[in-house]
Amino acid sequence: MDLDMNQTLQSIAKHYYNKELKDCDDREVYYILLDLTKNLLKDVPQIEGDKKLYYISAEFLIGKLLSNNLLNLGIYADVRKVLEDNGISLAHVEEYEPEPSLGNGGLGRLAACFLDSIATLELPGDGVGLNYHLGLFHQAFEDNKQKEYPDPWLSDNSWLGDTGKYYPVSFGDFDVNAHLYSIDVCGYTGKKNALKLFDLDTVNEEIVKKGIDFDKTDIKENLTLFLYPDDSDEKGRLLRVYQQYFLVSAGAQMIIEDMKEQGWPLEEISRHAVIQINDTHPSMVIPELIRLLMENGLTLDQAIEQTEKTCAYTNHTILAEALEKWPKAFLEKVAPQIMPIIEELDKRAALRSDNPKTAIIDENGLVHMANMDIHFSKSTNGVAKIHTDILKNTELHDFYELYPEKFNNKTNGITFRRWLQACNPQLTDWIISKIGDEFLKDADKLEALLPYAKDAKAQKEFAAIKQIKKEELADFLKNRQGVDLDTNSIFDIQVKRLHEYKRQQMNLLSAIHLYQEIKNGYKPEQKVTIIFGAKAAPAYILAKDIIHAILVFSQIVDNDPEVSKYMQVIMVENYDVTCAEKLIPAANISEQISLASKEASGTSNMKFMLNGAVTLGTDDGANVEIHDLVGDDNIFIFGVESEEVIESYAKGDYHPQDVLKADPKLNKIVDFLVGEEMMALGDPECLNRLYGDITTKDWFMALRDLDAYMAERKKAYAAYADQKRWNEMAIVNIAKAGYFSSDRTIAQYNDDIWKLR
Ligand SMILES: *Cc1c(COP(=O)(O)O)cnc(C)c1O
Repeated sequence: MDLDMNQTLQSIAKHYYNKELKDCDDREVYYILLDLTKNLLKDVPQIEGDKKLYYISAEFLIGKLLSNNLLNLGIYADVRKVLEDNGISLAHVEEYEPEPSLGNGGLGRLAACFLDSIATLELPGDGVGLNYHLGLFHQAFEDNKQKEYPDPWLSDNSWLGDTGKYYPVSFGDFDVNAHLYSIDVCGYTGKKNALKLFDLDTVNEEIVKKGIDFDKTDIKENLTLFLYPDDSDEKGRLLRVYQQYFLVSAGAQMIIEDMKEQGWPLEEISRHAVIQINDTHPSMVIPELIRLLMENGLTLDQAIEQTEKTCAYTNHTILAEALEKWPKAFLEKVAPQIMPIIEELDKRAALRSDNPKTAIIDENGLVHMANMDIHFSKSTNGVAKIHTDILKNTELHDFYELYPEKFNNKTNGITFRRWLQACNPQLTDWIISKIGDEFLKDADKLEALLPYAKDAKAQKEFAAIKQIKKEELADFLKNRQGVDLDTNSIFDIQVKRLHEYKRQQMNLLSAIHLYQEIKNGYKPEQKVTIIFGAKAAPAYILAKDIIHAILVFSQIVDNDPEVSKYMQVIMVENYDVTCAEKLIPAANISEQISLASKEASGTSNMKFMLNGAVTLGTDDGANVEIHDLVGDDNIFIFGVESEEVIESYAKGDYHPQDVLKADPKLNKIVDFLVGEEMMALGDPECLNRLYGDITTKDWFMALRDLDAYMAERKKAYAAYADQKRWNEMAIVNIAKAGYFSSDRTIAQYNDDIWKLR
């Protein structure tokens, strides 16, 4: 870019603050850079084509945008240098950007990585979502418990642009106007798409009471207030259906308007548009698009045929409770105009198959959103090889028999711009110094790093960078929550949403075991820092109990000078993308310990690998593919395999008491949860409930895998003591991570499903 950066920034500083750049504080510099970047983005050419993708999703966990935009505009290094010359740190400036928390976790982060890759591959494709005012809650710890607070991110001056456009949306009992906002999404080659976000002008942030409580019935004031309002009660669930219909109705109208503006006949919409439905939340786009096409003159048959050819569905889970089923009464109240269409689709589905398991509306009057997606879209994909196999062979087997040609796998990926270049410039520069910068555009080229894995000099250089990232994390956590880390210890990290199937509780039990061993005189060769980061859904009681137990245990360890020489346990407050960008580059061990068959893919496993952490995990989700790529010697795998787990569920033959009876040493660990140390600091109700669950239900089989996990963890710690071996493993992991670039994933979506070029 031909731009005198110093002069440009000086003149913006002069214009807004009447100061020289060096005299501006970090907050002012943030707004100077926001202004510069937004203006540059205006001139970035739009990606065009005669077919366009609409990636529709209830979540886009985009994270902060400044660094990524600077990077993709090609001015990151230049800006950083000019700021440095003026005594300003870009890293400090970035702290003033509020993180838009428009997602819960992996699914929303995936959508954000995809937008980056779609633009980078210069494919015409926009994200379509909702402009939640408060996003996901802000998590604080009080009395060793999670408390939820609103997390506002909108301000007068942000990345969000107002398009000035409105789309009318009719609910059963009233009408609203969806207001369209847009955020530019610039790819690495300097062309842009957009993230389109709908909002409602009447939403009122003042209705939020204590914590994140609000009146769930006042739809006009609360519709886009929060991401996923608590769905533990009927009012919350109904609000979610209002949000979903609002998203798809406005979205489908916008798509039809695009088609008309381009002069493309709606009879051929499937030649010019493809709608990728990210999980079941936007499923109602199918009946809504059919309805709107009919309003525009298509016959019912035409509208259904075109919709089926335009839409494609991504499945993200095999957890039954996460596959949405809405009572007909909900849909009749929220969107009565699409109910006749859903009934018609149900009839047609029944003609294709009389198997009740593939029905759209079941005998209890529940509408199965995933079933509607599979029948009336052209593609159903899983998100990792093992996940797609399980869908085909087990969970969606009846559908697979009906439509084998619709099923396909698209193993998830991550954007290397954010998860390597922006969050770990030191490692990026080091890789460039070894193999050149081709890998930035072609991630497979990372393999050229492989010969350096055994090179003693390269190992030392890598280790020095890891050390810098550990120190940066220590500073970050010191500032953020006042904890002190020992950067000479192993950083053993598990960060992801809190869920029983992800088994943070198993990690905790293993940590308790280590504590007990140390109390019994065992002196580990190497100190370890076990780090957790996770938000629990506000109504998910057991998940909150697990957080409580971790926090209490962490305090016990801290209070014990004998033990804290050898271990520390930290739970990071308010885990979000910003946090992830600090934690992941600093990790030595990546904990990916879900019960085999339950984690569809995972993406933090890929981020860790790319940053030179070694995976300790089960053969689940994309861990299986990581395992295949790096081989047995460069990963630590344990636990029962997925087929066995699936069989156990089918037979119902797992009982935690059997495991406890067979292995007395596990009793001592589990009993600690309700022992005097824990009870003295913790809430007996929470601890007893957790203990009761683990010892009598343990639905995700933490006890079954605990012993194998502890043994494998010990092996990993021992391997770390051999630094040559460890650094070799870490470099092999980086070299093999190219496959997990979301550029690869998106190229496959395009080749197999979207066919945009
Ligand atoms: C990548 C990411 C996730 C997904 O983590 P998994 O371990 O794959 O579940 C969740 N939250 C944030 C903030 C992320 O960056």
